[in-house]
Amino acid sequence: AYVFQSGWTGVNERTFIAIKPDGVQRRLVGQIVQRFEKKGFKLVGMKLIQATEGLLKEHYTELRSKPFFSGLISYMSSGPVVAMVWQGLDVVKMARKMLGETNPADSLPGTIRGDYCVEVGRNVIHGSDSVESAQREISLWFRENELQCWEDTHSHWIYN
Ligand code: UDP
Repeated sequence: AYVFQSGWTGVNERTFIAIKPDGVQRRLVGQIVQRFEKKGFKLVGMKLIQATEGLLKEHYTELRSKPFFSGLISYMSSGPVVAMVWQGLDVVKMARKMLGETNPADSLPGTIRGDYCVEVGRNVIHGSDSVESAQREISLWFRENELQCWEDTHSHWIYN
């Protein structure tokens, strides 16, 4: 873990997004990544990773007492996930809108969960629910040198 630079706010806000094992198995990676690219967000980290149970239990530590916790850990460790960090204005909240609701049945068509899945236990994608959890999750899943700072040459067409 590392200390976050202050200033990851505004257009530099970051969120942690993970395409879950069902999303990888079902070949949804390209289409999901494309949605974030087309929206105008900036990719600053991405890796295909087989998460350990230890990492997942830490990631979902707030849910430890839930009845679905052990099923969630085996689902999330059943295959590789695509772990990503996306950057942009209000990206935490916007990404949650793009994902839809936790339960795909409550997710509108047009959202990722609304378009690609039917059950809460196989809901294809994770996205941080607040700026604070984004910072915690990014430092849990990524080393600082795995995140890239790069100049976005068309940011003037996304921000005014
Ligand atoms: N989950 C589940 N059953 C439930 C609620 C949640 O299997 O009744 C799983 C689901 O994969 C969800 C994850 O646990 O995405 C984390 O739950 P959380 O409430 O944090 O929802 P999220 O932030 O992912 O929308």
